[in-house]
Amino acid sequence: MAEYSFKIIIIGPAAVGKSSLIRRFVDNKFSLQYKFTIGVDFMAKIIEYEPNKSARLMLWDIGGQDRFKMLRRNFFDGANGALVVFDLSRAQTFSKMKEWISDMHKLMKIEIPFVILGNKVDLLTEIGEVIDRNEPLQYSEKNDSVYIESSAKTGNNVEKAFVELTQRIVQKFS
Ligand code: GDP
Ligand code: MG
Repeated sequence: MAEYSFKIIIIGPAAVGKSSLIRRFVDNKFSLQYKFTIGVDFMAKIIEYEPNKSARLMLWDIGGQDRFKMLRRNFFDGANGALVVFDLSRAQTFSKMKEWISDMHKLMKIEIPFVILGNKVDLLTEIGEVIDRNEPLQYSEKNDSVYIESSAKTGNNVEKAFVELTQRIVQKFS
């Protein structure tokens, strides 16, 4: 049985790969077809965040277009940690992602651990770098977070992001 149960929220602008990251993590599947999230989706998975130590993660996935809706309050309520995602192939998603982080700080009474994910790293071999990656790196250091580059398509660093986040939450509780 899992020792802990955590509510994890996945936030960030539309189409950065939030739902795809969850799908990769939970079902180990990926599709290029874009099916946008309406309202909030839920999934759960037990993660081994350290050898022989497990936690049950309740994953809350919100539609990117729902940033300004009332439903946000329920969404953020009681969250233990956040995965904050932007798209490495679209530079403007990084500044939009920072708005999500300031919303989170405004809406939550407590500071929760969060991991910053630059997703779709697989695309950079074709299109080259469109954002100076020192920016998210420095931003994460300043904000007591960590920056990880991932691909829901290849699976690169997806598990690692959830493990890192879970470890940070557990650390906060112990
Ligand atoms: P969301 O709106 O943030 O939930 O984004 P989705 O998970 O629905 O993904 C948006 C689009 O980007 C879809 O067409 C996905 O197939 C695609 N996508 C998501 N993650 C990746 C990735 O890591 N690499 C590539 N190449 N495409 C991705
Ligand atoms: Mg989605």
